[in-house]
Amino acid sequence: MDIIESDKTYVANTYTRAPLVAELGKGALIGDEGGRSFIDLGSGIGVNAFGACDDEWIKAVETQLHKLSHLSNLYYTEPQALLARLLCERTGMKKVFFGNSGAEANECAIKCARKYSHDKYGEGRSTIITLTNSFHGRTMATLSATGQAAMHVHFGPFLEGFVNAPANDFPALEALCSGSVCAVMMELVQGEGGVIPLDKSYVEAAAKLCAERDILLIIDEVQTGNGRTGTLYTYMQYDISPDIITTAKGLAGGLPMGCTMLGEKVENTLSAGTHGSTFGGNPICAAGALSIISRLDEALFSEVRKKGEYIKAELESAKGVKSVTGLGLMLGIETEKDAKVLAQECLDKGVIVLTAKSKLRLLPPLNIKQEELEKAIQILKGVLAQ
Ligand SMILES: *Cc1c(COP(=O)(O)O)cnc(C)c1O
Repeated sequence: MDIIESDKTYVANTYTRAPLVAELGKGALIGDEGGRSFIDLGSGIGVNAFGACDDEWIKAVETQLHKLSHLSNLYYTEPQALLARLLCERTGMKKVFFGNSGAEANECAIKCARKYSHDKYGEGRSTIITLTNSFHGRTMATLSATGQAAMHVHFGPFLEGFVNAPANDFPALEALCSGSVCAVMMELVQGEGGVIPLDKSYVEAAAKLCAERDILLIIDEVQTGNGRTGTLYTYMQYDISPDIITTAKGLAGGLPMGCTMLGEKVENTLSAGTHGSTFGGNPICAAGALSIISRLDEALFSEVRKKGEYIKAELESAKGVKSVTGLGLMLGIETEKDAKVLAQECLDKGVIVLTAKSKLRLLPPLNIKQEELEKAIQILKGVLAQ
């Protein structure tokens, strides 16, 4: 049985996979089982921050593999402690909790927000406002938080206490911020929703309102974080201080890791026994993340911004393109033709691109070589113009 047939037979049908059996990767290049090479403008889904099988990352992970692969969170391990310190030092957050995915990072944020409010105000202040068209994950709580009705069709009843506000509509948010609200949660660039950045004025007004009413501001940086948009975290481009930041995707450069960063208000909210994770922060993933985060510096961010601007400039005026949105190397392309068909045509021509809603989505490795990027964009432009 070949790989595609075996997969179709034995793996749950939750993914619409493209006909590519990936076998090897190096940087922005992915090789299939037949020896064909593809330029990857997706990095997984924004996961391979430095591309596939980055040398320094391999060295860091391999060194750790030979030292200690796992021990439970009942004990201390060095990579986890060092990573926590690095993340706090670079963000100004006070403490972090490690899980294994974006959904788990958001679960922790939801629990933490509710406990903060319960500790301080008692029952009845547990509502979390999320935005229409948001995406926060696929577990029951994060799905309840996700503001997309289409994803809610089959799975009710949902967790209570989530309401949606339309994005970029401050009066609507203000009207919902009643005495029963403990948190507002948002992505600064709605990723799965179509790569839509929120207005700066809206985000800053929302942050101010939250601070005035002791409503926690949770910023979901699962996709926008870890250098993706040209700063370490995207909130750094807004004049805000989130109470909780969640991240995952690119954090550990290809290994599963999620992180919930806790600000001053909530640093001690989660006490012993109130939350946990068996695998969270395990030494291998933490060593991978250390290798990534320690190399995310101003020189790289400036490269990310420059490459993002290059892609925007190339595509904004290209045939078949209606608009380009996004920040840094997180870009959405509204196309005249069907994005799913275009993505398949790109793949046929050797370029991997993603989609989000009805758009094409690009999340290339942060360090993609300029010549690889140029080659891929020219192929993409050719496909768009057909
Ligand atoms: C991908 C994503 C998630 C979910 O992450 P998983 O690792 O798939 O659980 C949550 N929030 C945002 C903004 C995402 O892009």
